[in-house]
Amino acid sequence: NSVMEKVLQRRSLRLRNMQRAWQESPEGQKMMEFRKSLPAFKEKERLLQAIARNQVIVISGETGCGKTTQLPQYILESEIETGRGAFCSIICTQPRRISAMAVAERVSAERGEPLGETIFFGSGILLRRLLSDRNLDGITHVFVDEIHERGMNEDFLLIVLKDLLPRRRDLRLILMSATLNAELFSNYFGGAPKIHIPGFTYPVQAHFLEDVLELTGYKLSSFNQIDDYGQEKMWKMQKQLAPRKRKNQITALVEDALNKSSFENYSSRARDSLACWMPDCIGFNLIEAVLCHICRKERPGAVLVFMTGWEDISSLRDQLKAHPLLGDPNRVLLLTCHGSMATSEQKLIFEKAPPNIRKIVLATNMAEASITINDVVFVVDCGKAKETTYDALNNTPCLLPSWISQASARQRRGRAGRVQPGECYHLYPRCVYEAFSEYQLPELLRTPLNSLCLQIKSLQVESIGEFLSAALQAPEPLTVQNAIEFLKMVGALDEKENLTNLGKFLAMLPVDPKLGKMLIMGAIFRCFDPVLTIVSGLSVRDPFLLPQDKKDLAGTAKSRFSAKDYSDHMALVRAYEGWKDAEREGSAYEYCWRNFLSAQTLQAIHSLRRQFGFILREAGLVDEDAAVNNKLSHNQSLVRAVICSGLFPGIASVVHRETSMSFKTMDDGQVLLYANSVNSRYQTIPYPWLVFGEKVKVNTVFIRDSTGVSDSILMLFGGVLSCGEQAGHLKMLQGYIDFFMDSSLADCYLKLKEELDRLIQK
Ligand code: ADP
Ligand code: MG
Repeated sequence: NSVMEKVLQRRSLRLRNMQRAWQESPEGQKMMEFRKSLPAFKEKERLLQAIARNQVIVISGETGCGKTTQLPQYILESEIETGRGAFCSIICTQPRRISAMAVAERVSAERGEPLGETIFFGSGILLRRLLSDRNLDGITHVFVDEIHERGMNEDFLLIVLKDLLPRRRDLRLILMSATLNAELFSNYFGGAPKIHIPGFTYPVQAHFLEDVLELTGYKLSSFNQIDDYGQEKMWKMQKQLAPRKRKNQITALVEDALNKSSFENYSSRARDSLACWMPDCIGFNLIEAVLCHICRKERPGAVLVFMTGWEDISSLRDQLKAHPLLGDPNRVLLLTCHGSMATSEQKLIFEKAPPNIRKIVLATNMAEASITINDVVFVVDCGKAKETTYDALNNTPCLLPSWISQASARQRRGRAGRVQPGECYHLYPRCVYEAFSEYQLPELLRTPLNSLCLQIKSLQVESIGEFLSAALQAPEPLTVQNAIEFLKMVGALDEKENLTNLGKFLAMLPVDPKLGKMLIMGAIFRCFDPVLTIVSGLSVRDPFLLPQDKKDLAGTAKSRFSAKDYSDHMALVRAYEGWKDAEREGSAYEYCWRNFLSAQTLQAIHSLRRQFGFILREAGLVDEDAAVNNKLSHNQSLVRAVICSGLFPGIASVVHRETSMSFKTMDDGQVLLYANSVNSRYQTIPYPWLVFGEKVKVNTVFIRDSTGVSDSILMLFGGVLSCGEQAGHLKMLQGYIDFFMDSSLADCYLKLKEELDRLIQK
């Protein structure tokens, strides 16, 4: 122990020398100057004292004041300076992996070191660490950042940490939040002290739709101005109305909205239709008009446009690129900011535009709080964000653009006032804003809890429901019950809700339990590579792009990867492998362009593959020798079977009629295939079943990626079904299934693995 102590002391001295050398270097001094200009710096001593004296504190402050990048550094620096640097170990969590990476990079640049002493984590990773290291031994400080977002992982972390604090009296917990609902968190931790970092934001003038129309001269009543994109959305929303009538009715609705003093006066139907289409359908042209207005009439300054998601961003970017003013690279620098962007692209966002060039950034709500673009003076706010909600009754997640909260709208507006007084253009009437809810519903209350419940179980918790009742706001019992049923179906929990061996493995993998199961099956059945690609793809996002105006071409391009597989998952594998080959030949860019593939997404899939591969090797589930793991990778039916084992009970029967096909899920619900699915391009599918990863409700229920499977595959690799009209057909198969699944799934897999190992060795 004293040897250890000596080693750490020596290391502490080295850290101090390094830190001083950096601080005295010219670059270090320059960096220090910038850091001293941040509002957090003035509060440094007060913050350090508060952290030393209290186990928990809650810190709030305007976005960009230096919470995330500075506070962990203050602690680290002062510990290093007092010669205790090596004894201090700080973890800071971020809700999103991408912002964790950006912050880690920034902090190491500020410290002039290649790899930071402070660890920045996605909050999910800290949770996983807590599974094996219940007491966070060796950690001295935990920062939980962006708690105001009320992400599921954050809410969960707070339950676990609250439980841990009495056992780890020396551990410090620092909660950080942008907006001012610090009270809630302080109360949760028995009245923990709150510290506010006063910001230096300038006033921002808010323009609501009524003013925006006046400023830009944009006429709502001439609906000729609705662009194609808007038309299409309107069609979807208002199918029941004749086109002409639809136009008039919507015009009337908007005009009505502008005249009404309060949103409360609306009929609920009028509210729904407003919520459905506004501001999307007037959206693109109106945004274009606002951007033109800013570029022509307003003073210099960057523009930040908040959109709902990547699809909208890329369509709008394409539209703007064709515009004589906005598309002119000598006058406008058009950038995008979203979850899937590459780090190189991200750097551009922080850079100042050259003089006389207007920087315009099209962003998702990622730019709301976790990323700060310094020179923004104008904000355009569409008022919507894609939000996942969860329909517990039908056990279906829904992904719909919905109105943001008042807190988000204020936050977005605030982004315009960082360097000078700013302007914010809200593209909805003031009365609509007044009807927004005050805060967004916590994620814990609007998502399926499958992964979460598995992790709770791995913390050796008896009753999941009881555990979750300690949350800031506890989820519905039905949601919890659905999750438990799901985990039993996967084989992660046994009948008595105890964790199985399989469940223990699944909890270690940073993916949805069913994808984790697919990975393990892929390893056991020696077809690891393709399964690894599929699982990584499903956890990152679809690399196949679907531009609004080139849907057909994109679909054709994708179907080339499918041959006669009747499988989106196998198309993904082919596309990924093709990309690897193209990369080796130096033609990756062209390959992606030709095939409507996103290089960034493929890159992300590539790095996630390595991560999963590493974890599974560590766990001893795959062999060091790739050839052994892939002995059976060329066996298509086997890969299909493994896909089925993972995605079950996501399964739909294929119903052929004379000229058409339809698809029915187990609960006899009708589902549609996404336009981009390879299976949507066939007249007939020679498989009785499609397995799918998820169904999503977007007006109707859709299934995204699917793979055709046979009866025998379903019988051997699916699980037990109990409802729906298909149940009769499957009854006869269940004898086999029961026989096969007789012991717990995990034990069964282990036996199979032994068996297979023996076979392979022969
Ligand atoms: P907060 O967490 O309070 O929102 P941050 O600590 O993230 O603030 O950022 C503090 C300041 O550091 C920002 O105002 C911004 O100017 C600067 N900054 C943060 N990240 C970067 C980066 N990657 N590149 C350049 N500047 C950055
Ligand atoms: Mg921050």
